[in-house]
Amino acid sequence: MSRRVFVVGAGVAGLAAAVEAQRRGARVVLHEAAPHAGGRCRSFFDAKLGVTLDNGNHLLLSGNQSTMAYLRAIGATGTLIGPTQPEYPFFDVATGDAWTVRMSPGRLPRWIFDAETRVRRRLVELAETYEDGVVPLTQEDIAAMAGTSRATVNRVLREEQKLGAVALARGRTSVLDVAELRARCGYGRMT
Ligand SMILES: Cc1cc2nc3c(=O)[nH]c(=O)nc-3n(C[C@H](O)[C@H](O)[C@H](O)COP(=O)(O)OP(=O)(O)OC[C@H]3O[C@@H](n4cnc5c(N)ncnc54)[C@H](O)[C@@H]3O)c2cc1C
Repeated sequence: MSRRVFVVGAGVAGLAAAVEAQRRGARVVLHEAAPHAGGRCRSFFDAKLGVTLDNGNHLLLSGNQSTMAYLRAIGATGTLIGPTQPEYPFFDVATGDAWTVRMSPGRLPRWIFDAETRVRRRLVELAETYEDGVVPLTQEDIAAMAGTSRATVNRVLREEQKLGAVALARGRTSVLDVAELRARCGYGRMT
């Protein structure tokens, strides 16, 4: 006789547990207090708008192996859509600020080995620290903070100056466009 398993909650965790227990031969009873399954990760029909809405943004990272295993188990892997690269564009309606979070492919944060990316990330941090984005530090200071040479800092600053993201005057760096600079940071977003 197969065992009976009671699962409490039909959120993603409960649904995955129920499917796995049944796969292993148990007779599963799934209890859910709400009138629907899905828990915090579900869609609902909004009668006012006449469309099906998700209850909130859900970003699913491919490294989330448990969720991926659940999707495979229920044959839903093909229902996912996503970017070919691990990156997520965001837009802040209140400020108009747009940025993209880029993940480092694989487990290693490889951007830390890229000196130019480190310089750009430092500049974003500094621009957000100092008033009006004016960074009163020398190129040597920025180089020391980014763990690279002054020549690399100079190369990055000249390039960003050409692209209109920074202005250089009297040893100061004015970051004119943090969003643009951030977009060229390679991976991740500085906050
Ligand atoms: C707006 C929003 C955005 C999110 N965005 C992301 C995202 O981008 N990426 C991400 O990975 N995660 C995100 N999350 C988190 C993710 O949704 C949750 O981590 C996940 O859904 C939790 O699943 P769960 O099954 O553990 O719990 P829940 O979804 O909370 O499910 C628990 C279920 O148990 C039921 N229950 C509780 N007590 C009882 C009881 N005594 N008897 C019967 N039933 C009971 C509840 O009604 C519920 O249905 C977001 C969550 C929200 C709300």
